[in-house]
Amino acid sequence: MVRHHIKDIGLANKGKLRIEWAAQEMPVLKSIAERFRKEKPLKGIRVTACLHVTTETASLMETLKAGGAEIALCASNPLSTQDDVAASLVKNSGISVFAIKGEDTKTYYRHIKDSLSIKPQITMDDGADVVSTLHKEEKALLKYVIGGTEETTTGVIRLKAMAADGALQYPIIAVNDAYTKHLFDNRYGTGQSTVDGIIRATNRLIAGSVFVVAGYGWCGRGVAMRAKGHGARVIVTEIDPLKALEATMDGYEVMSIKEASRIGDIFVTATGNINVISKECFSVMKDGAIVCNTGHFNVEIDIESLKMLSKTKRIIRDYVEEYTLKNGRRIYVLGEGRLINLAAAEGHPSAVMDMSFANQALCAEYMVKNAKKLQKTVYSVPESIDKEIARLKLKAMGIKVDTLTAEQKKYLQSWEMGT
Ligand code: NAD
Ligand code: SAH
Repeated sequence: MVRHHIKDIGLANKGKLRIEWAAQEMPVLKSIAERFRKEKPLKGIRVTACLHVTTETASLMETLKAGGAEIALCASNPLSTQDDVAASLVKNSGISVFAIKGEDTKTYYRHIKDSLSIKPQITMDDGADVVSTLHKEEKALLKYVIGGTEETTTGVIRLKAMAADGALQYPIIAVNDAYTKHLFDNRYGTGQSTVDGIIRATNRLIAGSVFVVAGYGWCGRGVAMRAKGHGARVIVTEIDPLKALEATMDGYEVMSIKEASRIGDIFVTATGNINVISKECFSVMKDGAIVCNTGHFNVEIDIESLKMLSKTKRIIRDYVEEYTLKNGRRIYVLGEGRLINLAAAEGHPSAVMDMSFANQALCAEYMVKNAKKLQKTVYSVPESIDKEIARLKLKAMGIKVDTLTAEQKKYLQSWEMGT
């Protein structure tokens, strides 16, 4: 049996069936797995992956394994692990997994270290916790690493900051920056799964509610769009004038978080920033306001201040904590302020993760081939990989696109033809 620390190996059969269900919506990754099985581009390569342990991640792990990789997987969030998937990966796929849903912070980091014990040559991160653990606490392992990949926006920001400081010790590809990642995963994936998480946690009606979205980046756009589709009155808060203008012209009300705090029924943060919903906001919120995060870890909502403002706290149903303030009002925090779509729901649907994880698989292959030529910095996903994934996805969806005629090509390249 492979090394592991999971909740219950007895859940493996349930996990296997759910992985099979999700894989039906992941044709691009499937075609990559078929090629990897024949070509073995990752033969003998040790990969430490720190990702949400979901049915979609299982397909990615199986693809890497088909390519010849030896893998250790840990969770990139203490609440997002699907324990049946972890069990199936260990029992049915022979992959080492260190992840338990609801693990405390100490166990979370111990699992990262357990996964690093294979001395990875490639790291696959979602939020840069593996990279930062390697650079801060496991420096001796850095000599084995040839490169890595990063899944999400804030991870890329952290890694770029490390590169700018000259601290980053190996090249990383920013998977998040591929069009076939953020345009679909961050927007449509976060849009649907965040609303799904809120509904599963609360069973509240979205229609007619005042729904506040903090941050109008790729995730915020998706969440606002889907909340509007449910019939909410959507308010956007921003710090970037361009995004605020865009949200206004997309038909949303834009105001400061302080103003929005007075009138919102449901609040969702999607900024990647710290303490976006702060003490001042809680003090003016309505009785019964619901607050959650779909951005970064558990930092976007200032829960410490909420605790200080409160006289009592209780869990009223799964994923819903009721804080009763000294002013008598009740505020509900969902999923401990961690990503609501992965804590209370199942994360993004497989159809978008198909593209995100196709990028991961192809970037791991690219890294093995090209690491020696790369610097210790953050790279974009090569355009050829991005375009190929879009082509494969369209093909799987049965959608045809046109090709330029010779005349059109010439027209687009010339300055003489004009109007
Ligand atoms: P983005 O950079 O496209 O958007 C972030 C937006 O937040 C920007 O427009 C920025 O101006 C705004 N912002 C920053 N500080 C703010 C503040 N104090 N108040 C209001 N707005 C503020 O990033 P993104 O791709 O949308 O990602 C957002 C976060 O979500 C990141 O942390 C990312 O890692 C995470 N993410 C989560 C999921 C998920 O599954 N829940 C999926 C993808 C990304
Ligand atoms: N690890 C941090 C950083 C944000 S996670 C945290 O937990 O707070 C956001 C990432 O989760 C996205 O970039 C997205 O690609 C990934 N994600 C969303 N749904 C997923 C799913 N079903 N399976 C695996 N990863 C998923």
